[in-house]
Amino acid sequence: MEIEKLNEKYLRKLNVYRKKLYKEPTLRQLFFELTLRCNEKCWHCGSRCNDVCSEELDIETWKAIVDQVKEDFEGKLPQINITGGEPLLYPGFEEFMEYVHSSGFRWGMTSNALNITPEIAEMLERTGMATISVSIDGVESTHDRLRGVRGAYKRTMKGIQNLIDRQCFEHIMVTTVVNHETLAELDELYEIMCGLDIDSWRIIGVEPIGRALDRPELAMTDEDQSRLFEFIESKRREDMPVTYGCSHFLGLKRELSVRNFYFLCQAGVKTASIMSNGDVGACLDIERNHITVQGNIKERRFSEIWKNEFKAFRYDRSEADEKCRACGNREYCGGGACHTWDFEAKKQRVCIADI
Ligand code: SF4
Ligand code: SF4
Repeated sequence: MEIEKLNEKYLRKLNVYRKKLYKEPTLRQLFFELTLRCNEKCWHCGSRCNDVCSEELDIETWKAIVDQVKEDFEGKLPQINITGGEPLLYPGFEEFMEYVHSSGFRWGMTSNALNITPEIAEMLERTGMATISVSIDGVESTHDRLRGVRGAYKRTMKGIQNLIDRQCFEHIMVTTVVNHETLAELDELYEIMCGLDIDSWRIIGVEPIGRALDRPELAMTDEDQSRLFEFIESKRREDMPVTYGCSHFLGLKRELSVRNFYFLCQAGVKTASIMSNGDVGACLDIERNHITVQGNIKERRFSEIWKNEFKAFRYDRSEADEKCRACGNREYCGGGACHTWDFEAKKQRVCIADI
């Protein structure tokens, strides 16, 4: 009860801050989706990589974007997060990251680590990478099956070890996306993670986005979500740096019990992204359509789009959805996550606040 009261107090303050952000957005995280090419074929890929072809931006265009952002956000540069696809497959990756680093940006990356040899880990150190998130989605046979590549698990584990061996990166995170079937492997995975000198292990339930929509049988039930949270809570009590992601408001009891921060969807208020074809959006987990894409970098300057667009993200969504309007948590939640928000119907598709 004490915890609930404390959470209530802080979430009220956060609500004031959230409303301020709608009027005065502050860019903190800028994602660059360098490529949609990928050397895996994950069944839950949010971007449906390899299914879609688009003309990628060339390195000179990316460098010009870096120059613009440096100029327009001087004094308050966002962190740049490199994603894909698999970003290491982008031709000119090393040259581009050298440019980002020498331009004064802190940068991080999401990778499947298949190609992180000792030489690539050395290159990542040289180009100033600060943080990295690598995916391990299950024990060896499960990981290989879900990622569509035999031998992927072994190569990824080697890649993680190559990163650890450099002893220089600020934060190495392993991310695991669990589903209805793989939830049973968490204890086994825990033992594996304990044997790795990583900084954190983030576990998230599969979300109804991207390719995961094609496999509804693997969706997490409320019971699964509950088991996942209980697992994370118990391991955190044992001091394992395991955490849940930013994905959802979890109710007054659970907020802060599975992660170190309160829910506040940052999409379009603190987070933006530039996609491989130059489209500008909020968070890359959000489906891409005529409402969520805010413009294209080939036509307008990023800062101009950031300043003048993003209206679809900068309002209290709980006012738009009938169920949210009647919800006692709306002040703490604000209508939930943008990646599960139906932008056409203005409705929240996923709410796990009461499980
Ligand atoms: S859209 Fe989802 S993944 Fe992105 S910042 Fe919001 S809650 Fe997090
Ligand atoms: S009903 Fe809406 S406002 Fe209430 S907790 Fe769920 S998503 Fe948030």
